[in-house]
Amino acid sequence: MTKFRPVTNRFAVDIGALQSGQIALFGLGIDANSSHLSGAAAAPGAIRAQLHSGSGNYTTEDGTDLDGVIADVGDVAVANNVGSIDDLDAITTAVDTILAAGASPLALGGDHSVTYPILRSVGRKFGGPNLDGVTIVHIDAHPDLYDDLDGNPLSHASPFARIMEAGLCRRLVQIGIRTATAHQREQAVRFEVETVEAPAFDSFDPASITGPTYVSIDLDGLDPSCAPGVSHQEPGGLTTRQVLNLIAELPGPIVGADVVELNPTRDVVDMTAMLAGKLTKELAAKMASVLSP
Ligand code: MN
Ligand code: MN
Repeated sequence: MTKFRPVTNRFAVDIGALQSGQIALFGLGIDANSSHLSGAAAAPGAIRAQLHSGSGNYTTEDGTDLDGVIADVGDVAVANNVGSIDDLDAITTAVDTILAAGASPLALGGDHSVTYPILRSVGRKFGGPNLDGVTIVHIDAHPDLYDDLDGNPLSHASPFARIMEAGLCRRLVQIGIRTATAHQREQAVRFEVETVEAPAFDSFDPASITGPTYVSIDLDGLDPSCAPGVSHQEPGGLTTRQVLNLIAELPGPIVGADVVELNPTRDVVDMTAMLAGKLTKELAAKMASVLSP
């Protein structure tokens, strides 16, 4: 049984009190699979601090009041060891628990390695016989399709290779990409990944995404001028407004999401943590909108 480390805030609930239809917020303090810098393990707390900052409120751009919508079940208990199968299994089991309650998972990373174990749960729930499978909308500067990086197949540079090998989605649509190596371009062809590179962003039509949708936002997909607090700043990225509009325009239903790769040690006046909190709010409202009768 996966343990959740409880947190204290306005949205906090015990995992056992999670109700059907709620958006289950949970933290994943993992940065051991980061290839360049550590620091992302502290992101869940930094994001929550901005989410609950007195500078804002709990109403989203479409007018949704998030009170009672988000249930913060705390942080998944992980050891944060590089390549840890135990941590992988703890995350998958945590998401299984959330889905079994009839709630929808919304993860606060952690580095991007967390998306593979989340999809082991989400992908299996929405895939399989007689089901269409989930479409992943993945915003990132990087394809994260390395077969392995530095010998670690569970690296934050590899989650989408693992997801595609395991057949955990129907479509993978990567948006904002601007660093694809020859190896990763080969991987994208091999796995039939649909790539919308950053220069082509304006040609992407969110209405082309149909059916159950999972949204994975690596904050380095945004331009460093919007999101400096990441381990891998890559100029030439998306604006905050472009990402918010994309979320708003996805037909959905959005059945799960993650916001990953905030590195608080790199942040400037908490602006990237605030951005992550904003994206978390807007994703939660969008996810909840299609759950309502
Ligand atoms: Mn990534
Ligand atoms: Mn990235």
